[in-house]
Amino acid sequence: MIKVCKFGGTSMADGTNFLRVKEIIGQDAARRYIVVSAPGKRYSGDDKVTDLLFAAHKELTATGKLGAAFSRVCERFRSIVRESGAEFDVETALEEVGRAMLDARSEAFTASRGEYLAGRVMAALLGVPFLDACEVIRFRGDRFDAAATYPLLRAALKGKPRAVVAGFYGADEGGHVCTFSRGGSDVTGAIVARAAGADLYENWTDVSGFLACDPHIVPSPAGIEALSYRELRELSYMGANVMHSESIFPVREAGIPIRIRNTFRPEDEGTCILPNPRENAEDRPVTGIAGKKNFTVIFLEKSLMNAEIGFAYRALEVLTRHNISFEHMPSGIDTMSFVIDSEQLKGGALEQIEAEIEAAVHPDRITSFDNIALLAVVGHGMSRNVGTSARLFRAIARAGVNVRMIDQGSSELNIIVGVDNEDYERTVRAVYEEFFKRQ
Ligand code: ASP
Repeated sequence: MIKVCKFGGTSMADGTNFLRVKEIIGQDAARRYIVVSAPGKRYSGDDKVTDLLFAAHKELTATGKLGAAFSRVCERFRSIVRESGAEFDVETALEEVGRAMLDARSEAFTASRGEYLAGRVMAALLGVPFLDACEVIRFRGDRFDAAATYPLLRAALKGKPRAVVAGFYGADEGGHVCTFSRGGSDVTGAIVARAAGADLYENWTDVSGFLACDPHIVPSPAGIEALSYRELRELSYMGANVMHSESIFPVREAGIPIRIRNTFRPEDEGTCILPNPRENAEDRPVTGIAGKKNFTVIFLEKSLMNAEIGFAYRALEVLTRHNISFEHMPSGIDTMSFVIDSEQLKGGALEQIEAEIEAAVHPDRITSFDNIALLAVVGHGMSRNVGTSARLFRAIARAGVNVRMIDQGSSELNIIVGVDNEDYERTVRAVYEEFFKRQ
């Protein structure tokens, strides 16, 4: 039995937590490969080491020297080593890292040093080898290169019955460090699980798994015991902030289950993420609710749009030209809309895009509206339960909320509802109440 365990930033935040991790590892001999994040926040208002490293890079670019931010990173690691009692020459390691940052002058390199140092300290504390992700996780350009990575990583793990691997980064063929997007140690954990042929990928964090909705909106919502990979992807993409939304891809093909565990409540069962829907998906039509605010909808109308070959193609070409990705594209016979993260449309981009779409497809009408929140109601059970959408929209109507947009994936795994930003919380509460309180 092989388990790959990834520990997130809070689990690595200080020396006491390093010892907690050591205890968890010691409780199960199958926990052979450990993937670590950089130390996160110790208390609210604290800084994550990765954020300090990004600041260190800025200082380096501005002044040519390492300044206050890097000193704070050094302090964090000195106290972790002191508190945990790890036998590790932290001063030499910090000196080497500082020198390498000055040489590399690369944002990705500097940002990656939190995981690098955390991994080395953890390896020393556990008395197992450290595996530098630069040697085994390959990127091509800024994309993960699976074909190059797996043979390298498998060969490296073969020689090591146990190891600590640094999360979040890797390197391209030329040896330049590249990182995944923020929170990317989850992805490294999944890659290592796949390469190790793990039976289970344990993702240790600071919450006891997924909750049915955001606890900042509904106090103490129900926990989710089991999720499918696809439900996980939908929920994490739509803002359920437990795991990186791309972390299922490496484990999916190998069918490796994931379990979310809480480092601070190891007795909790957490959430299990399985390749397929739960057996009893019918019992509960909705597995979870997630959502995000601040979208813009560009709405197009043109009579006989349905008969005009290439209409969507020409409109989408404008978005491509502006390097804009859209979230949803609800359409009717004579209408089509693009739902886009408003962040991408700042600084006059929206006006420009509207003008170009106008010129490309000559619609009868083109308008846009912003401040839209998207709420995703996710669950395999929805397709097998008659009347789920009726219940959903009745609950939203009861809350007095006006629905601005609806998009149901043809997989019937989710229904996306667009409401005004200011109605978002009210909508989440109403939907939660309907599906998790009334039975
Ligand atoms: N340390 C990185 C971040 O803060 C990656 C991770 O923690 O997964 O985003």
